[in-house]
Amino acid sequence: MLQGKTAIITGSGRGIGKAVAMRLAALGANIVINDIVSSVDADNTCEEIKATGAKCICIKGDVTNIDDVKALVDGTIKEYGQIDIFVNNAGITRDGLMLRMSEADWDMVMNINLKGAFNCIKTVARPMMKNRGGSIINMASVVGVMGNAGQANYSASKAGLIGLTKSTAKEFSSRGIRCNAVAPGFISSAMTDKLPDDVKKQYFDAIPLGRFGTVDNIADCVAFLASDMSSYITGQVICVDGGLVM
Ligand code: NAP
Repeated sequence: MLQGKTAIITGSGRGIGKAVAMRLAALGANIVINDIVSSVDADNTCEEIKATGAKCICIKGDVTNIDDVKALVDGTIKEYGQIDIFVNNAGITRDGLMLRMSEADWDMVMNINLKGAFNCIKTVARPMMKNRGGSIINMASVVGVMGNAGQANYSASKAGLIGLTKSTAKEFSSRGIRCNAVAPGFISSAMTDKLPDDVKKQYFDAIPLGRFGTVDNIADCVAFLASDMSSYITGQVICVDGGLVM
């Protein structure tokens, strides 16, 4: 389905990003793993993908640093010649109630989750325009749609990412570049493992399908948005959440 295509996935050393990278590789894409410079997971994930016979390289760097992002895009073009799929997946949480939230926690979350995606889209758009095509997929969250007490910074960053998705979809559609967002609900991963049990129970009780999601559920949706099966879809936010938001 993705034979000959090249995909960059940010923050893909582990969790959702890793599952996405492994899925796109299994569908035939050439993969670029990106994660922060100190990430050992990123090297391991790259080796794991190469062991399946797929093409994979690892270019580490911080998405908040524009020089790192340029090196990521330039390095990918040097290796594979072009970029077809870019998944803005890198993201963090620094939860806390609004009245107690520090400016540093606000800035850090906005910087990585939103400005990181801005840096990446701005940098990858030119080579995609040159190719007259591409699929950009932004990892938002259901809390960017519905809000969440204790996550003012995170939900604002994800709501911002949704606005960024729709605006770039409008700007780039004439160049054949599609831009969509995936909004995961509660997905079992390192990010959600650290939540208190009462918060997990609250989520669980609100999910109509009666289970938490898996990283593979998200990879399924990203694979669809990355492929030509979604060639008439742009500017959309797809909630993959067991029906939490409807
Ligand atoms: P995760 O396991 O924490 O993975 C995120 C990855 O991004 C980590 O490897 C992290 O590196 C990396 N990263 C952090 N800052 C970075 C930066 N500045 N530059 C490059 N990479 C960076 O989280 P996840 O659960 O897989 O989540 C992936 C995405 O899905 C995030 O955008 C998250 O907001 C979104 N999401 C997740 C859920 C969920 O239920 N899990 C729900 C909704 C949305 P480190 O090793 O330094 O942490």
